[in-house]
Amino acid sequence: MSSLTQRIQDWTVRREAAAVGLAQQLVRIPSENHPPSGDEAAVQAYYAEYMAGIGAEVHVYELSEVEGLTSHVSYMAGRNYEGRPNVYGRFAGKGGGRSLVFSGHADTVYRGTEQWTYGPFSGEIVDGKLYGRGSYDMKGGMAAAICAVQCLQELGVKLKGDVFVESVIDEEHGGANGTLAGRLYGPHADMAIIPEPTNLRINPAHLGGGIWKAEFAGKSGISFNGEVLVSALEAMVQFAGLLRRFEVRLNELYTPPIWWSADRRLTVVALTMLSGDTTREFQEKVPATAEMNFWIEGYPGMTGKQIIEELWKFYEEQLDAIPELKVCRPIITPKIRYLLASEMGDSESVKQFLDIVGRTGHAALGRDPGPAVGTPFACDGFMFNVYSSTPALVLGPAGENAHAPDEYMNLASYSELIRWYAHIIADWCGMAEDAGGEAQ
Ligand SMILES: [Zn+2]
Repeated sequence: MSSLTQRIQDWTVRREAAAVGLAQQLVRIPSENHPPSGDEAAVQAYYAEYMAGIGAEVHVYELSEVEGLTSHVSYMAGRNYEGRPNVYGRFAGKGGGRSLVFSGHADTVYRGTEQWTYGPFSGEIVDGKLYGRGSYDMKGGMAAAICAVQCLQELGVKLKGDVFVESVIDEEHGGANGTLAGRLYGPHADMAIIPEPTNLRINPAHLGGGIWKAEFAGKSGISFNGEVLVSALEAMVQFAGLLRRFEVRLNELYTPPIWWSADRRLTVVALTMLSGDTTREFQEKVPATAEMNFWIEGYPGMTGKQIIEELWKFYEEQLDAIPELKVCRPIITPKIRYLLASEMGDSESVKQFLDIVGRTGHAALGRDPGPAVGTPFACDGFMFNVYSSTPALVLGPAGENAHAPDEYMNLASYSELIRWYAHIIADWCGMAEDAGGEAQ
C-alpha cells in the first residue's frame, strides 16, 4: 500500500465522526423540492458557510443572474427560482494541473405520506446506516466530496489543479435547470463527478427519461334513454394496458448500448391515474374525465419526441382491437422536459480519467471496483455531457430506498467513497512538487 493510500485510510478512521457528522447535518436540513418552488435555501447556505470555513472561494448566485439560461434550448420553463441560489466552492490549486468539479443537487424529493421508521430528517444512525431524506440521494455523496477535499488538506497534500464542489438546485422532478445554470455560469472544469448514489459503481453513462400526461375526455352519465356514453376511465385503463405492451415494442426497437447489460430493458411505468369526482364517495355515473402520468426511459441518442412518435404509431396499430381507445383518444403532453440519456464519450482525457478512477478504486477499496456500467436511472448528467465541454462520471455511495420511506446511506460505503474521491482528486488534479515527499 502506498503511503498516501495508508494516510488517506487513516484519516477516514481518525476523522470518521466529523465526516459522518457532516452528512448527518446535511440530512437534518430539509431541502424538499415541490415544483414550481423548492426549499433549498437553508442547505445551500450551509454548504456555502461550511466550504468557506475550510478555505474555499465560495460563489453564491441566483439563476436569474445567469446569462443565456432561460433562452437555452434545454431550459425548462415554469419553475420559480427566487431565493433558491446555486452554490459552488473553489479549492484553488497551485496551477498546472487538471481541474475537477463534484456537482450534486441540493434538493430532495418530498418526504412522502408513508410512515418512516426513523424520521425523514432525523439523520439517525442504526446498524451502520444513516437514515433520512437525501442521505442516499444525494447529500451523502456531496458530503463525501467535501470530506475528500478536507482529507487531502489535512494531510498537507497540495494540488496543482482546482477542485470545485457545486451544489445545484432543482434537479428532482425533471428540473436540471440548476445544473444547466452551473454549466453556463461556471465552474468550467476539465472533468466532473456527479455523486448520485451508484452503490460505488463506475457509471460513465446514464439513462434518460420523461414524464408525460395522457388526458381522456368522454361523455358522462347513466344511460336511461339509450344515450351513448363514453367512459374516460375505461379508455385510460385500456391505455395503461397498451403502455405495458409498448414497453415490449420499445425494447424491440432499441437495444442497450455497451454500458448496459444485454438483458437490460427500458421501462415504461404508470405513475398516477385519476378519474371521476374523487371528492364524493358515491358516484353512479360513467366518468367523463381521466388522466394518467407515465414515465418512459431512454438510452443515449433517443429523444422524447421520438419516443412519443413511436408510442402513437403503436397506438394506431392497436386500435382495431381496442374500441375504447378509438372513441376516446388521449391528448398526450410532456409533464417535464425530456431528460436526455448521455455518456462521457471516448476522448483521450476521458480515457485517462476512467483509467485513474479504476486504478484508484483498487487502491481505495482494496478490491476490484468492477467494470464501468450505465446507471439504472436518469439524472442531470446530460447537462454536462451534452451541453458543456465537461464530461461527467456518475459515482456515489451505497444505500437504499431513494425517493421512498427509510431512505438510507450505507456508512461503510461513505467512508470508502471519501477515500476513493481523495485518490481520484490527487491523481487527476496532480500533486504539487512541494508537498514535501508527502504526496507519494
Ligand atoms: Zn438524485
